[in-house]
Amino acid sequence: MTKTILQKRGFPKHDGQWFGVHVLVNNDEEVNTLSKEVPKIAKIGVNVLVIEVDYNYAYVSHPELRGPKPITRNCVRTLAETCRTHGLRPIPQFQCLGHQSWSKVTHPLLVQYPEFDETPGQFPSNEGIYCRSWCPQHPEVNPIVFELFDELIDVFEADALHVGMDEVFLIGSEYCPRCRGHDPAKLFAKAVNDYHSHLCGERGVEMLMWGDRLLDSASTGYGMWEAAENQTHKAIDMIPKDIVICDWHYTVRESYPSIPLFLEKGFRVWPSGWKEVEATEALINASQKYKTERMLGHLCTTWGAVKLDQLAQWPPIQTAMQKLHVRKA
Ligand SMILES: [Zn+2]
Repeated sequence: MTKTILQKRGFPKHDGQWFGVHVLVNNDEEVNTLSKEVPKIAKIGVNVLVIEVDYNYAYVSHPELRGPKPITRNCVRTLAETCRTHGLRPIPQFQCLGHQSWSKVTHPLLVQYPEFDETPGQFPSNEGIYCRSWCPQHPEVNPIVFELFDELIDVFEADALHVGMDEVFLIGSEYCPRCRGHDPAKLFAKAVNDYHSHLCGERGVEMLMWGDRLLDSASTGYGMWEAAENQTHKAIDMIPKDIVICDWHYTVRESYPSIPLFLEKGFRVWPSGWKEVEATEALINASQKYKTERMLGHLCTTWGAVKLDQLAQWPPIQTAMQKLHVRKA
């Protein structure tokens, strides 16, 4: 089904390696800057652009969920068209479940619908927590969020959506009347399966997500950020295998046991690095040992460490593209 959509919409057939960059965009100005940078990153070999939009789009279905400087439709259309002209596949991202606040700022969903909060009324000013989560069992949350998914898929004419889902620490909370006492792995898997059902079932697009909550910190040796200490990891066996797992690791390690684990489970794996060049090289070296079509390539995250008009010159992206393309040749 995905291939049909790819072909129908005139995307390049994507059965080779995925040479990706992930960026966050907050407003029209940033999207315009990114559009201008697309030809330059295409030139060094990038062929997928993951664009994290979250609440920063001028949603029509839910204007109450727009961020402070909503990105306009025309601006996104220009970015998406520029990507296609230069052979990049644009994949929008909407951060689901966790990361519903940052520092003292709570994002629009839980401001407008505080009843969706996994810890309603708790942690004033977000003190004492990392980020808020929405409740995966609130019956009204998915219908709203799915309308936002749909708008992003439509405006980007996308054939995939990244749903985020990293670093979810508040899940199965004692403060949630629906979730308290429930198995965090089952709750996490329910959320994944719900999003998958809408995206892959209803919309016929691919789904990507971060992999950290599917990894057991104790058995993998990863810390509490890049793996789970909160028992969500058993969800790895409760979700569809056609999800693309973005397996992020930002430091140099002797080994990256999550890569063979995700591959053995049957997932496609997209290892994801960040700003340390050495760590990017180590992750690419570790991942390229696996000769399978399900090893997709590499995703360079940026997380504000580089300006959008300097992506093509940024050492981690340049290094990753050089290594991957040498490999390909
Ligand atoms: Zn709940």
